[in-house]
Amino acid sequence: MKGKVVLLGTSSAMPTKDRNNSGVYLGYKGKGFLFDCGEGTQRQIMRAGLSIYRIDKIFISHLHTDHILGLPGLIETLDMHDKDSIEIHSVKGLKNVIDCVLNGVIYAPDIQININEHSFSADVFTIFEGKEFRIKAVGLNHVVDCLGFSFEEKPKIKYNKEKIKQLDLQGSDFIQLEKVGYINKNGKIIKKEEITFVEKGFKFTYIPDTYRTENIIKLAKESDLLVIESTYLNEENKAREYGHLTLEYILQIYPELECKKIVLTHFSRRYSSLEEFENRIREEGITNIFLGHDFMEISF
Ligand SMILES: [Zn+2]
Ligand SMILES: [Zn+2]
Repeated sequence: MKGKVVLLGTSSAMPTKDRNNSGVYLGYKGKGFLFDCGEGTQRQIMRAGLSIYRIDKIFISHLHTDHILGLPGLIETLDMHDKDSIEIHSVKGLKNVIDCVLNGVIYAPDIQININEHSFSADVFTIFEGKEFRIKAVGLNHVVDCLGFSFEEKPKIKYNKEKIKQLDLQGSDFIQLEKVGYINKNGKIIKKEEITFVEKGFKFTYIPDTYRTENIIKLAKESDLLVIESTYLNEENKAREYGHLTLEYILQIYPELECKKIVLTHFSRRYSSLEEFENRIREEGITNIFLGHDFMEISF
């Protein structure tokens, strides 16, 4: 197991008895990445048995309170854990929010808060490029500027174990293969591409608050895991007015998404039960769309 995605909050607007406000934790090779931080998120992280200290980067989709109110408290906790710095990515305006809170309360943090504000873009863009993965984002269609995010593990070139055994390749052969791309084994030239294959990396996409937009498909296409808001079942007028998605629309774009697993989140509290969502998905004969719940965990 390389990592896991844990849903920390699956309610829209207000928290409910059973559902916290938005937050998704992605743990990968000892590091944590947090997508949105609604009120109560740090306690949800603890309850899920995850490490707050390991949080390396935070991605805030937009400035509605149900996605950011947990952030000041989380920053203070990281500071109390003697974390030196924290990297936060968001839309324009987050810096002002954090400055207002920290200037208004009686607390002077030592932690360095590095906020990267990104301009709204209708094209998918890379916001972080690491050695093993990259984070991409795209502008969505909410009532305020809102970004969706993707975590993409880079593809890896792997040696075919069977072929290596057949050819009896040794350590020095691999050094040569990595250096020049081929070896001369018993008078025969063997190219690296003949004995390797490309292993696709894991792709996770988070689509928070948005009304219909083709950018959902642009960012989420062929994800291994897509966590997507489905505030409403089929209330199209409300969805348009408040800038949210309906399950009906997700079912409509489902064939184009080509995702392995889709998890719905950000449900309106108007639904005391999500049975109708479940029934509608089953009616379509779809087996890879699931209803998200707090503490739902998906390993990869
Ligand atoms: Zn929201
Ligand atoms: Zn919102």
